[in-house]
Amino acid sequence: MILVFALLLTIAVIAFTLSVRKRDLPRFEPLSPVAHLEERRARIYENLRDLQFEYRVGKLSEADYQQTKTGLQQELVGVLAEIDRLQGTPQPEPPVAAPPPVSGTVCPHCNAGFPQPLKFCGECGKPMGQGGAN
Ligand SMILES: [Zn+2]
Repeated sequence: MILVFALLLTIAVIAFTLSVRKRDLPRFEPLSPVAHLEERRARIYENLRDLQFEYRVGKLSEADYQQTKTGLQQELVGVLAEIDRLQGTPQPEPPVAAPPPVSGTVCPHCNAGFPQPLKFCGECGKPMGQGGAN
């Protein structure tokens, strides 16, 4: 009888422990939509560091190192892109190239180009009329 009681008690304790553990599991609520991504990014950086270290101390072969590194870097690229997308970070605008200077005028006589319209060609001195009014 005592044995049965002990058994029941044990079962009760186990059940209690399990239920408590389940309930107390911290619910994962990301602080920001990218929190888990930043965590992943940090872990990838960490892995890369570890990998480099292991390679340096000779634990990894060159091929293994390169393969793992490439994999991690690809994952990192994906994570970074996802972070950018979620944060709505505007992609840095490519520097706007200065528009090519408007070819103001090209002398119809000598083909010399000038940035601004001229009445007379600076090269040959002939009048640069529109349509070549001679
Ligand atoms: Zn000219």
